[in-house]
Amino acid sequence: MPVLVMKFGGTSVANLDRIRRAAKRVGVEVANGYEVIVIVSAMSGKTNELVGWVNETSPLFDAREYDAVVSSGENVTAGLMALTLQEMDVPARSWQGWQVPVKTTSAHSVARIEEIGTEAINGKFADGMRVAVVAGFQGVSAEGRIATLGRGGSDTTAVAFAAAFDAERCDIYTDVDGVYTTDPRVCDKARKLDRIAFEEMLELASLGAKVLQTRSVELAMRYKVKLRVLSSFEEMSDEAGTLVCDEEEIMESKVVAGVAFSRDEAKLTLIGVDDRPGVAASIFTALSDAGVLVDMIVQNIAEDERTDMTFSCPTVEVKRAQHALQAACEKGDLGYADLVVDDAVAKVSVVGIGMRSQSGVASKMFQVLSQEGINIKVITTSEIKISVLIDRKYMELAVQALHDAFELERAE
Ligand code: ADP
Ligand code: ASP
Ligand code: MG
Repeated sequence: MPVLVMKFGGTSVANLDRIRRAAKRVGVEVANGYEVIVIVSAMSGKTNELVGWVNETSPLFDAREYDAVVSSGENVTAGLMALTLQEMDVPARSWQGWQVPVKTTSAHSVARIEEIGTEAINGKFADGMRVAVVAGFQGVSAEGRIATLGRGGSDTTAVAFAAAFDAERCDIYTDVDGVYTTDPRVCDKARKLDRIAFEEMLELASLGAKVLQTRSVELAMRYKVKLRVLSSFEEMSDEAGTLVCDEEEIMESKVVAGVAFSRDEAKLTLIGVDDRPGVAASIFTALSDAGVLVDMIVQNIAEDERTDMTFSCPTVEVKRAQHALQAACEKGDLGYADLVVDDAVAKVSVVGIGMRSQSGVASKMFQVLSQEGINIKVITTSEIKISVLIDRKYMELAVQALHDAFELERAE
């Protein structure tokens, strides 16, 4: 029988009624002749609550215990989904990550899947089980500890299962009916895309569009998984949602495909750093050893053998960054006059494969922001994206203005 992977995000399993609704969809696919692997998230809000409890208990927590706590939300929904399916006379059972097993690296809270064992689940399929309900977001490390895959990680669980079981398709059920030109909650003119290229989706996700976890898109691209994003609240149909696919399968040819944003960014500037070889290495080694995810980096022109170095990172990592830089300074690895933190910035990006062959996108983006009176603090570019750091209070305005200027509400 062909295999289908169906992933239900937090809002789709937020209460028992919704779990029943999701289970009905699974039942339809079973009746259509599929063996189904259902990947579930925790009920919406649950993971945030668990993370909050960990932070309150232990601010500089042991990540292994963080994983033990935050992985639990998915265990509850997996069991409830299996029970609901059984009530519908669909042969189903639940699996936690370690039972499958989903083997991961030991990078707790940001682990990567290394291998998925298919034997146990396939054995049950051969015995007549029709649905394997798997707790998303979790696996087990080589040391035998529970490891989680980073926020939004159930998307990655789903795509990894689709690849491992050679599934016909991986359907990601969420609370919007597909991938939009930007987050429809921020811009009401956002337009749903029928298709989006892997590379564009990868950039949008890594620049903040949380509709899919970045790693899930990477895996789908690498293993050629047919990936679809759709709503669990709409009628079922083959055309529903957005298909994430190869560039060649897309007709639309807009230069900019979408606008992404990341709200909780911080800008840190080291003032009066020595301008000599090895200084950047010392700064960013200290930060990386402390697990700080540095994003943008700008070094100013030196004056009197001193320079300023600016970088951005998520706001939640500011304390760790300050701590790491101070420690490096005390150890004598590094010297600076001051460290200035601006934790009220956001990153806004425009993304599109068309930028490879068309110039003028950056200048247009900067003009639009200037017309709105928005000051740009840092800029970075790559082949298919341009990102700017701006004051957080202008983030929505910037997204809407860029969406208008690049005419994203209109299909071509
Ligand atoms: P789930 O709990 O199902 O995993 P998420 O909250 O992680 O759902 O992701 C869905 C949300 O992603 C949407 O509610 C929407 O606000 C947000 N989002 C951000 N950018 C986009 C986009 N370009 N298209 C669609 N949704 C987006
Ligand atoms: N429950 C986890 C989170 O909220 C994983 C997921 O839903 O994808 O991040
Ligand atoms: Mg998600």
